[in-house]
Amino acid sequence: MTTLTKPTIPFSEAPWISGLPSPYFKESHKKLREFVRRWTDQHLFPNAARLEESGKADPKIYAQAAKDGLLIPFALGAKIPRKLYDEFAEGIKLPAGIEPEEWDHFHDYVLCDELHRVGNGSAIMSMYGGLAYGAGPIVNFASKKLQERFLPDLLTGRKRIALAITEPKAGSNVANLSTTAELTPDGRHFIINGTKKWITNGVWSDYLTTAVRTSGKAGDSNGITFIIIPVRGPGSEGVELKQMKMTGSSASGTTFVDFDQVKVPRENVIGKEGEALKYIFYNFNHERMTIAIFANRYARVCLEDAIAHSIRREVFGKKLIENPVVRYEIGHMARQVESLQAWIEMLLYQQNNLTVEQANVLTGGQTAALKAHAGIVLENVCSGCTQLLGGLGLTRGGTGARIEQIWREVKAFTIPGGSASVMIDLAVRQQLKLIQSLAQEGRKSGSKL
Ligand SMILES: Cc1cc2nc3c(=O)[nH]c(=O)nc-3n(C[C@H](O)[C@H](O)[C@H](O)COP(=O)(O)OP(=O)(O)OC[C@H]3O[C@@H](n4cnc5c(N)ncnc54)[C@H](O)[C@@H]3O)c2cc1C
Repeated sequence: MTTLTKPTIPFSEAPWISGLPSPYFKESHKKLREFVRRWTDQHLFPNAARLEESGKADPKIYAQAAKDGLLIPFALGAKIPRKLYDEFAEGIKLPAGIEPEEWDHFHDYVLCDELHRVGNGSAIMSMYGGLAYGAGPIVNFASKKLQERFLPDLLTGRKRIALAITEPKAGSNVANLSTTAELTPDGRHFIINGTKKWITNGVWSDYLTTAVRTSGKAGDSNGITFIIIPVRGPGSEGVELKQMKMTGSSASGTTFVDFDQVKVPRENVIGKEGEALKYIFYNFNHERMTIAIFANRYARVCLEDAIAHSIRREVFGKKLIENPVVRYEIGHMARQVESLQAWIEMLLYQQNNLTVEQANVLTGGQTAALKAHAGIVLENVCSGCTQLLGGLGLTRGGTGARIEQIWREVKAFTIPGGSASVMIDLAVRQQLKLIQSLAQEGRKSGSKL
């Protein structure tokens, strides 16, 4: 039986970590948790500040993550297809020796949650911010031939990939994208022209899973195609990558991409031409869930450091924590985090017991609302914890290091992956649609619903 490292600060860990009963977490989750905890302590904590300062990813950390099997779940998803693992992972074991068929949404949660304990996006996003979202379309929709060409290098960390959808004029409204892909007269290549913006890990990548327009015009939801574009080495002529300067998480390698007459073989198309919008929506639920998990852990990190500080710090002759007003502030932050945790676990359970297609329909609205809520909770909690730290909350390094870093990253939880207001509106629209279709089904089957 695995013994879990117990928390020493209240609200710094989910209740199951403190030994409370949970219907969700089994021995393999505990094993994984301890493995990723040690991994994060060893490889991320000592390097986080350096990565943020340099604005560069560290290839040695990436190689270590590959060797220890951390990249495989990020590439293959919350449920790992045994067949793809056997064919393409080249014998690399999953973290903590977990078997692919054992891996579920709660393992996915534990992996994301534990890595984010470092409280520094440069350490984490520089590692998997591209792979986690760029490999999905290949895993779920590409031909066997494309999978054979790309997955071995991606799962073993020899090559890197990122997801390129957003453009200067197409953000929340994906259908507005206008990067063009025109067939050559012999029909064997596409010529790509256009720009992509804010592409996480773009500058660290060898390929971009890119959404391009093979027909129609900006605003049409049809005619968008996913194609794998090499952005480094042979075949990348005409591609220009420029690292963007962003607020926090500098080593994420957020990138502006220019495609100027880039010639890409037609066989690099993922799935069917013109179907990419469907593929993009397919993965949204998982992407939004991971963002909620990251935000939840970041909020706990803020609470952990702020509560530890309030226990130590004496002001006006008593410890901060001895002031009822301080405890009141902490309590209000804690209740937001604990309820966010419970919502995450409930949705994880549902998604674990549904196919992706079912989960997209039945939990899509709730997951959109969860993603928005998680960002808002993190923003509130990080702001409150910064306040509790006083000047230390605004100081890089030392006691407030993680809180100050997270404050710079907070908005990266409420804007990318679906902006909060768009998510909340979407949640209501999805739930209305769902309730109508359930009512229709009920009428057909004679139920009173
Ligand atoms: C750090 C970072 C990393 C990113 N990584 C990637 C990546 O790897 N790949 C990729 O393709 N893209 C990436 N993006 C882009 C990201 O997905 C977009 O920024 C996001 O979709 C929002 O688009 P936008 O910035 O163009 O905002 P806009 O679409 O211009 O929206 C601006 C604001 O308007 C409001 N708004 C818009 N529409 C509505 C509406 N219908 N109702 C109410 N309010 C609305 C929202 O508050 C929104 O925040 C990243 C962005 C950032 C900042």
